[in-house]
Amino acid sequence: MIKHQLRLIFALIILILIILLTYLLLVGEKQFPNKEIWWILAFSLGAVLILIILLAIKIKTKYSKPIDAATTVTMELSKGNYRARTSVEEMDEMGTLNSSINILARNLEEMVKVKEMQQDRLSVLIENMGAGIILIDSRGYINLINKGYKEIFSVEPQDYLNRLYYEVIEHHDVRSLIEEIFITEQNVSKQMLLPLAIERRYFEVYGVPIIGTNNVWKGVLLVFHDITDIKKLENTRKDFVANVSHELKTPVTSIKGFSETLLDGAMNDQKALKEFLNIILKESDRLQSLINDLLELSKIEKQDFKLNISQFNIMHILHDVITLLANKAAGKSITLQINCAQDDVVLEADVHRIKQVFINLIGNAISYTPKDGNVIVNVQENDYFVRISVKDTGIGIEKTEIPRIFERFYRVDRARSRESGGTGLGLAIVKHIVEAHRGRIKAKSEVGKGSEFTIELNKHFHANG
Ligand code: ADP
Repeated sequence: MIKHQLRLIFALIILILIILLTYLLLVGEKQFPNKEIWWILAFSLGAVLILIILLAIKIKTKYSKPIDAATTVTMELSKGNYRARTSVEEMDEMGTLNSSINILARNLEEMVKVKEMQQDRLSVLIENMGAGIILIDSRGYINLINKGYKEIFSVEPQDYLNRLYYEVIEHHDVRSLIEEIFITEQNVSKQMLLPLAIERRYFEVYGVPIIGTNNVWKGVLLVFHDITDIKKLENTRKDFVANVSHELKTPVTSIKGFSETLLDGAMNDQKALKEFLNIILKESDRLQSLINDLLELSKIEKQDFKLNISQFNIMHILHDVITLLANKAAGKSITLQINCAQDDVVLEADVHRIKQVFINLIGNAISYTPKDGNVIVNVQENDYFVRISVKDTGIGIEKTEIPRIFERFYRVDRARSRESGGTGLGLAIVKHIVEAHRGRIKAKSEVGKGSEFTIELNKHFHANG
């Protein structure tokens, strides 16, 4: 504004001077009453005109240019470009103004750098905290999930961010906890047992309402600490002793009961003698396999458990297992089949343990498939790993039971498992062996249609992963 007014004043003065000078020149020195005065007037007007023009140029370079530069820099600063600087040429008022702007810009740049550094540190901290973190805004939209959360729940940020929490969080307990915080606006801490893929894990979940200045409600923060290992340790000893005693009690009671009945006189009845001895034999077999499985499990779970790694063709092992279980399958008219594009699928692993894995998996597939069903073993490979799946057309497993079946002694149907000679330890052994090989195991199932257990093993064994 001032710049424009100055420009206008200068233009007016110059215009008036030009008009006066033109008038003087038009009138001419001869028509002017006093020739000398004409000269003095013309000369002075000319000189003043030149002076004014020089002054205008001087003012433009001295004030207007630095003001323009200062304006440009402040505009850049307001846009967030803190690297903008003005050039300070003279140490007068304008120079001081420009150098102050430069100092301001430098300070701003420093402050932004410090803020960015703090933000970086904070995000590195949040990302690598080990615990899972989720931040939900006041309208229920998810604003942030960290690495821990992604890993725990196997989710991708694009499926979560900016979505309503009750649409994407699948665990009812977690949704209820968030609702509770929204309603009560109080800190909440709860222990939860959440089903995740093939297992259930314990979490200590802290929920905090975020309330900003002036009591503005900003949302909810949840922190998930995985306490499964602590919880397991706590429960394992208790459960294990109880479970083992319970499992041993049934066959022992039965053996004791039938032997007593025989001794009480039933042994004189040939039919009863044979029948009871058969029961005693069956129960002793159960006891034996229970003890074998327990020993096997305790061996695998030992700290210094070592695999006996060698190179072998997994197809040979699978054919051996199929031969071993052929009678069991034939008894129920179940067809056993192996599908693989190659005859040679070589990998490095502990051959006996891997054989055990497939005896358990294919054995289960036969046990939990009704008469005339199918059990298919599919083998696929690439340069790095071998994927073997055991698929049956059996009774299937409820989705909520899948994370539990790998636990020791867990059976969906206790009676059916016992009848098929199961100990409830088979899948726990499988899981341990696969994990010791740094492999992966997945289970898919549909009740009434069948189940599929898939094992992925690295072709080359690396002790550390
Ligand atoms: P078990 O000795 O009882 O078979 P496992 O640890 O091998 O014990 O299996 C645990 C439970 O998982 C079984 O009792 C059964 O309920 C379920 N299960 C395992 N495999 C299958 C399958 N192929 N089809 C249906 N249910 C299965």
